[in-house]
Amino acid sequence: MGGLTCGSLLAKEGLSVLVAEQHVKPGGYCTSFERKGFAFDLGFDFLSGCDEGGAIAKTINELGLAHEIEFLKLNSVGRLIGRDHDIRVTSLKGAGEELKRRFPAESKNIDAFVRECKALSAEIGPLLQAVPDLMSFMQKIEFVMKFLVKCPRFRKYGMKPSGKLASHFFKDPKLNVILLTPIVDFEPGMTSVMLLECLAESDRAYYPKRGGAQALANLFTKGLTNHGGEIALKTRVNKILIEDGKATGVELADRHRIKSDYVISNADARQTFLKLVGPEYLRPKFVRGLSESRLTPSAFLVSLGVNMDLGEMGFDGALISYCPNYDLNKLFGSDPENCRIGIKMHSLLDPAQAPVGMHTVQLLAALPHDYMDYWRREKDGTRGKQYKELKESVANKLIASVEKIIPGLQEHIVYRDIATPLTFERFTSNSCGAMAGWYPAPVAKIRSQRTPIKNLFQAGHWTFPGGTVAFAIQSGRNAAQMVLKDSISYMTTK
Ligand SMILES: Cc1cc2nc3c(=O)[nH]c(=O)nc-3n(C[C@H](O)[C@H](O)[C@H](O)COP(=O)(O)OP(=O)(O)OC[C@H]3O[C@@H](n4cnc5c(N)ncnc54)[C@H](O)[C@@H]3O)c2cc1C
Repeated sequence: MGGLTCGSLLAKEGLSVLVAEQHVKPGGYCTSFERKGFAFDLGFDFLSGCDEGGAIAKTINELGLAHEIEFLKLNSVGRLIGRDHDIRVTSLKGAGEELKRRFPAESKNIDAFVRECKALSAEIGPLLQAVPDLMSFMQKIEFVMKFLVKCPRFRKYGMKPSGKLASHFFKDPKLNVILLTPIVDFEPGMTSVMLLECLAESDRAYYPKRGGAQALANLFTKGLTNHGGEIALKTRVNKILIEDGKATGVELADRHRIKSDYVISNADARQTFLKLVGPEYLRPKFVRGLSESRLTPSAFLVSLGVNMDLGEMGFDGALISYCPNYDLNKLFGSDPENCRIGIKMHSLLDPAQAPVGMHTVQLLAALPHDYMDYWRREKDGTRGKQYKELKESVANKLIASVEKIIPGLQEHIVYRDIATPLTFERFTSNSCGAMAGWYPAPVAKIRSQRTPIKNLFQAGHWTFPGGTVAFAIQSGRNAAQMVLKDSISYMTTK
């Protein structure tokens, strides 16, 4: 989505743009697949950034596509379910009220927590839109001053892991667990800012009315081609060409070379620099940073077509975060019988995603890429009988765990598909199948769309801590502005 955004905005400005995509369809993680009358999204539960002024809304407007897509505003972004709790996150305030009813002794702390979420969110909005690389020296100084004066909460919580934040506010360990297992799949090591912002965003969640994730990716592809840009599918880039320290084009898998003034990589950061560019063009410290920085977890995704009426059972399509216990080590561990499970039912939001009378259910667990010796793949990396048996057995355990909240699920399955972290990696080339680029740890480096190589830019979730489709789109916008700024100054000096 980062590359499509950048490409369409540059094409709109009259640049000649080619998007090379290795897969058979555009979108990367923001894609859907269809099987036996069911449609399933891959890396997509819900969207932020669709409100006026948000990255998605703004880009769609600028590309003249606003009339071509409708978004459904979700009544509740998430539902947190555990042995002793069932909380609908209709809004931050609503969730706060519900928590107060269940934990009256913590009322004051809950109010304080909700206040801090809101205040942080107000600080963070302008920060996320700011692009220091596009600022003059004086603007940068002004930006730093504003940050120091007007963002006290960001400074307070930025270096704090979310695990410490919850216990700072609450005494009841159950409440800590509930608040640390909401709509994000990262364990309590992520920065508190990310957790607070995510909760604050909870009344701003959207889903495309028709066509799921693929509808959004197809729309951005249309934005590209409508403005004269091209997309080449099934086209893998093998190398970024460098001459005199500058990016001068790409070499494709078939050895065909394409020269260009600028290259924007939306591929995984490790692949971009370590394989496509090559470490010989980079400083050792930069290369070390790429190898040593922590990645976001990957996902194990079970996609089910079921012949049951989920609406009648009280489900409404809100993303469910299901915790089978109250032990954080188990919830974020890799035992499928005890881990936290995200449950999506997107056919309740867009009924065309399942045949009449049926529904889709997807179960998502953040299981590691190296689980059971890389999912018991063969020594040569192929996926054989043992791999298949292991993924089936893990899927069965997740389904059994979820039976407690969707009784009868097992016997109503008419279709099932299983994706492991190896699948996510294979289809998108994200290192270890990382679901959102670099891990948003408290000390994580803020990364830019500008790279150490002249005329090479980066877009996508590897440039925004914590990823998401909206941030990938924002990064594509930033990269496009940087290219335009450079190309204008190049033309004026020429
Ligand atoms: C299971 C899961 C759930 C998620 N849930 C949400 C959610 O609810 N909301 C949300 O906003 N975000 C969610 N995310 C995160 C979100 O999907 C991503 O952060 C975002 O889509 C990333 O977009 P991107 O453009 O940065 O990169 P990607 O989607 O990774 O796209 C990279 C593209 O580059 C292509 N490529 C890579 N290498 C090459 C090469 N050498 N040559 C040619 N093409 C290449 C790939 O095929 C791919 O199409 C989720 C992710 C996962 C995995």
